[in-house]
Amino acid sequence: MQLEKLVRKNIREMKPYSSARHEFSGEANIFLDANENSFGSPTPSLYNRYPDPQQQELKNRIAELKSVSPSSIFLGNGSDEAIDLLFRIFCNPGKDNVISCPPTYGMYEVCAEMNDVELRSVPLKENFQLDVPAIFGSIDANTKLIFICSPNNPTGNCMDPEDVKKILSRFNGLVVVDEAYVDYSANPSFIHQLKQFENLVVLQTFSKAWGMAALRLGLAFAGESIIKCLNKVKYPYNVNAATQEIVLKALEEAGKIKDWINETISERTKLAEELSRLPGVEKMYPSDANFILAKIKRAPELYRFLSDKGIIVRDRSRTLLCDNCLRITIGTPEENKQLLEAINEFK
Ligand SMILES: *Cc1c(COP(=O)(O)O)cnc(C)c1O
Repeated sequence: MQLEKLVRKNIREMKPYSSARHEFSGEANIFLDANENSFGSPTPSLYNRYPDPQQQELKNRIAELKSVSPSSIFLGNGSDEAIDLLFRIFCNPGKDNVISCPPTYGMYEVCAEMNDVELRSVPLKENFQLDVPAIFGSIDANTKLIFICSPNNPTGNCMDPEDVKKILSRFNGLVVVDEAYVDYSANPSFIHQLKQFENLVVLQTFSKAWGMAALRLGLAFAGESIIKCLNKVKYPYNVNAATQEIVLKALEEAGKIKDWINETISERTKLAEELSRLPGVEKMYPSDANFILAKIKRAPELYRFLSDKGIIVRDRSRTLLCDNCLRITIGTPEENKQLLEAINEFK
């Protein structure tokens, strides 16, 4: 793969913004270079200084945790930022195209539209697996990105890793494997394949298993030259100081996260079993994520019935291959119990 050729010409040739904090990186104690408020900030801890634009300390810790090099990590304002930047770096508006495989995460299509890039939909097969021949049939010289969500939202299943590898080895653009839910899956992450496939980008996030959706921290893992492009195009201070500090501290709690993951998985098994015993439930799809997809009679009516009781699930019944399906996030044992009781009352 020739990365240089894949990158848009204007991006390849642009000079990135160079911030004050970027240009100076030695020891000093008087900082009069960035027009900050030298007196302080009206907050319990100080936020008057711009944060580290490269989030180096945080990346070093994440690198240890994930057993990858810090130079293969990009951090963004949610993984949604990485998705948008990939469009901006690789896709010429009005000319290039990308492939995604619905039913899947909605942001690929939103970012495609926002960037005036054609999105070619290659639906999953009935078993929710990739239609590899159809994907290859849709690729042309202007196809730059293929999005693969695994475990997939909203279906919950992992894509067959052999299919993903086939696409990685035969496609001349980037393959973006979105692993937002990988912590709940028994399948290994694709971040261990970065050396084998230089066209691989793996997305992960602190919004799901790590429980920090409000802090907005997403990760992209890729070869160093792709990471360099992402860093060149991002806003200089895209990850704020509070997020950097709090997540750095939270990384010490990996044990607690593991416990929550295990509890979520056992609740997922229990909830799936109990739901499948209810009369209106036609099918429970197996899940590798922290949600389950259920095919239920009169799903839109059930959705409204539940929301009238203050229980909100996601109605996916108008989504391709998902008629009468609700996507239900695994709650605490108490929340799941109340959900089951409420569904039981639905006549
Ligand atoms: C939730 C989710 C994300 C997370 O995005 P953030 O911007 O990191 O919160 C990414 N991809 C998929 C498939 C998701 O479901």
